[in-house]
Amino acid sequence: MKTKGSIKTKKEALTAQKNMAYLGLFNSIDHNKEGIIQPYQFWNELKSHGILADDPRLKDINDNLKKEKLKNRKGITFELFSKYIDQSILLTKSLKGELVIPDFKSFTDEIITIYNKLEKNLSGSVANYIPQLARVNPDQFAVSICTIDGQRFDYGDFNTDFCLQSTCKPINYCIAHERLGESVVHKHIGREPSGRSFNEMALNNDGLPHNPLINSGAIMCSSLIERQAPISDRFDLVMKTWSELSGGFNPSFNNSVYLSEKQTADRNFALAYFMREKNAFPENTNLIETLEFYFQCCSIEVKSPSMASAAATLANGGVNPLTGKNVFNSSTVKNCLSLMNSCGMYDFSGEYAFKIGFPAKSGVSGAMMIVIPNVMGICVWSPNLDELGNSVRGVEFSKIFGERFNFHNYDSLINGNDKLDPRKSKYENKIDGVISLIYAASLGDIDEIKKLEARGIDLNSADYDGRTALHLAASEGHKEVVEYLINRNTTANLKDRWGGSPIEDAKRSNHRNIVKILEEYLSNQFKLENK
Ligand code: GLU
Repeated sequence: MKTKGSIKTKKEALTAQKNMAYLGLFNSIDHNKEGIIQPYQFWNELKSHGILADDPRLKDINDNLKKEKLKNRKGITFELFSKYIDQSILLTKSLKGELVIPDFKSFTDEIITIYNKLEKNLSGSVANYIPQLARVNPDQFAVSICTIDGQRFDYGDFNTDFCLQSTCKPINYCIAHERLGESVVHKHIGREPSGRSFNEMALNNDGLPHNPLINSGAIMCSSLIERQAPISDRFDLVMKTWSELSGGFNPSFNNSVYLSEKQTADRNFALAYFMREKNAFPENTNLIETLEFYFQCCSIEVKSPSMASAAATLANGGVNPLTGKNVFNSSTVKNCLSLMNSCGMYDFSGEYAFKIGFPAKSGVSGAMMIVIPNVMGICVWSPNLDELGNSVRGVEFSKIFGERFNFHNYDSLINGNDKLDPRKSKYENKIDGVISLIYAASLGDIDEIKKLEARGIDLNSADYDGRTALHLAASEGHKEVVEYLINRNTTANLKDRWGGSPIEDAKRSNHRNIVKILEEYLSNQFKLENK
C-alpha cells in the first residue's frame, strides 16, 4: 500500500532526477566549473545551437536576465538556470542538441565554406531596367538560414535591405489562396510552367496566366487579394503578412523603387490589358489600382533574415517558427511550394527542379527564397543576375548546397549517395550505416547488406563492442551471409572487445557448417599471405 511518505519519496526522487539532468546542462556551459555562468556564456552556448538572443520565444528570459544583471552582478546561478529551463522547452531542446539540425555548428561551417567559395564569383550583372536596381552595389552577398525550430544563422550583408521584386509572388499567391481557396484562385490562374519568359505576352489555352509566379499571374493574384477593401488596406494586409512571416521584424517600403516600377511598366500594363481582353479578371477589376498594388508589393523591402524566416514559415507548413503564429494553412503552403518547385526560377525552373530539386523563388533584386520542406528556409541575396534573371550566386549556392546535402526531392531514393543529412547528429550519419549493416547480418538479410555496401559502408565496420557483420552472421548461423561476406574479402579474424572472433561465435552457437567455411577461408588466407 502506498503511504503518503512513499509518494513524497517518489516525488523527491523525480525532482532529484530532474536536478541531475539540469546540472548536466548547467555544467556543459560552466566550462570553468565556477558554479555560476555569465549571460554571455549562456547566449554563446545557445548561439552555437542557432538560438539567438533576440529570439521572440526567449524574450521573457532575456528581460529577466537583464534585470538580474542589474540586481545581482554575479551571473546565472544554478537555481536561476533551472527556473529558465522550467520556463522554456526550447532551452532544454537546444542544450540537449534535440533541434532539427542537432549539430548546427558543423552545418553552418559548411555554409560558410560555400559562401567563401562564391564570394569571388562576380559574374552576371545587376538588373538595369530601373535606376534604383542599377545602382545597387553588385558585390553584396547575404545568406540567412532559419530552421523550422527557429535556429538561425546569418552571414555576409544580412543587415542590408533589398526589395522583394518577384519574391513577393508566392506570398501574394498564399494570401489570395488563404482567403479564396484553391478553386476560386485557379479559376483565374493556371498552374503550369509557361516555358516562356517571366513577362512574355502569353496566356494559356483558357486565356489565363500560366501560373502565379510569372508577371501575368502575379498581377492576377494582386487583383484577387481582398478585392472589396480600399487599396490602402490591401497593402497593409500584405505588409502585415510579411511582418508575421518575418517573425516580428517589420518590412519597409521603397517608394523610389515603386515610382520607377510604375514608370517603366509598359509590359505589365500590356499584360493586364491583354488579360482583360480575354475576360480573365474577376468582374469590376480596377486595372490601374491592381497594377499599382502589384508594383507596391514588388517594392517592399526586407533583410535576408526576414526572408529566411518567411521561407522557414513555408517549410514549417505555414507556422512561423519564431513566434508560433499560424500565418497560412498547410494546404495553401503545399500548393505554393508545388508551384515554386515547378515555376519559381524563371526559365531555369525545369532545370532547377531536375538538378537541384527543392522549391525556390527568385527576384530581379537578386533575392532568392529557398524552402527545404520540414527542415529550413534559406535566403540568398546577391544582386548580380544571369541572363535568365536569377541571382548568379543564388543559383550557384543552390547547386553546391544541393550537392552537399540530401535535400533534392528524390534524394531518398538513392542508396549510394554520399550527401550529408544535417538532420542527423554528428556521428549518426556514420553510425546509422554500421548499425544497419550489423543488424542486417544478424537477420541474414543479404539484399540489405548489398544495398549498404553500395552506399559505401565498409563491410568490416564494427560497432562500439567491436562486433562486425561477420560476427553476427556467424553467431546467428546465416551461412549465405557468411559466404557473401568472405567472398567480398572481409577480414575473418577481427576480434570483438571481449577478444572473440567470428569463428568462436560459430563454435559457441554450434553452427558447424559455418565453422568449416571460416576455417577453410582462414587457412586459404594464411597460405596466400605466407606464399
Ligand atoms: N517588378 C518586376 C516586374 O514586374 C518584377 C520582376 C521580377 O523580379 O521578376 O517587372
